[in-house]
Amino acid sequence: MQTPQVTLIVPLYNEEETLPHLIERLDAVLASFPVETEVVLVNDGSKDRTSEMINVLGLSNPKYQIVELSRNFGHPYAITAGMQYARGNEAIMILDGDLQDPPELLHDFYALIKEGYDVVYGVRKKRKENFLKVFAYAAFYRILKSISTIDMPLDSGDFSMISRRVVDLLNQMPEESRYVRGMRTWLGFNQYGYEYERQGRFAGNSKYSFKALMRLAYNGIFNFSEFPITFITRIGVISLIISLIYTGYALFMKIEHGAVPEGFTALLFTITMFGGIQLISLGIIGEYVTRIFFQSKNRPLFVVKNHIVNSKKNG
Ligand code: UDP
Ligand code: MG
Repeated sequence: MQTPQVTLIVPLYNEEETLPHLIERLDAVLASFPVETEVVLVNDGSKDRTSEMINVLGLSNPKYQIVELSRNFGHPYAITAGMQYARGNEAIMILDGDLQDPPELLHDFYALIKEGYDVVYGVRKKRKENFLKVFAYAAFYRILKSISTIDMPLDSGDFSMISRRVVDLLNQMPEESRYVRGMRTWLGFNQYGYEYERQGRFAGNSKYSFKALMRLAYNGIFNFSEFPITFITRIGVISLIISLIYTGYALFMKIEHGAVPEGFTALLFTITMFGGIQLISLGIIGEYVTRIFFQSKNRPLFVVKNHIVNSKKNG
């Protein structure tokens, strides 16, 4: 196989149900795409038959490169691994393995890259998922956009095509808490939002646990916004002003009218409320400290246990 020009990166975690259909769709797209293309399938520590299935594919079809992580590292790390192994010298495309991101958009995305864009990302017009999830996502992206230090696009995930020079830059970013869509936006260059209709998952359930989804949201907020810290300062300043005014008022009442303020309930309420605010503030600072802690360890972002490329098996 010649050096590929484009690499498709697909992270997989327990996708045995969807896999045969995914491969079918990918093969059909590749057959109609006149550019030398490889697919990097990243197995993110699946516990089902995903590993067996992709190994068979990797050994028989040189278009497929297989990267297996030593355990489940999580979606952003699987993508990161894929980007480090991608050989496409013009561009890479990231898509989910559950067929929510149509591989057929390869043609349109590539055409835009050829027009001179460095990043073409999918913007979800409609989400075919349950109401609560749609609402939560919409709210999160809007909040993040309003507090973020960079201009975060709305309703877009990791589904994108990225030029080689931007992939090289992403690969050089050593961030431990990886919010890939944010890092991609942070890099700048010419970016294009491509509207598409996001399908429902082809089979199985979402592989993102609630915990993983929360971590992703936290990573977006804490890595791309100073809002949490300024928020603490603002609450502090507001409380101080209120308390000064109230102290002045209480002193005035005592001196002028000899009245001592009453209100044990109000006191109790104030103490518990500020106890809560202080603990939340500590937690927010803790978030930053934890990030510094993990970053300072300088651990590799992922560990690969098996790699198949061009029908040759290494390691
Ligand atoms: N995925 C992964 N590691 C994980 C969770 C998910 O590689 O720990 C993959 C998954 O197999 C899929 C993609 O990431 O190809 C997106 O995950 P999913 O569809 O479950 O997320 P959702 O669409 O529900 O946000
Ligand atoms: Mg999905």
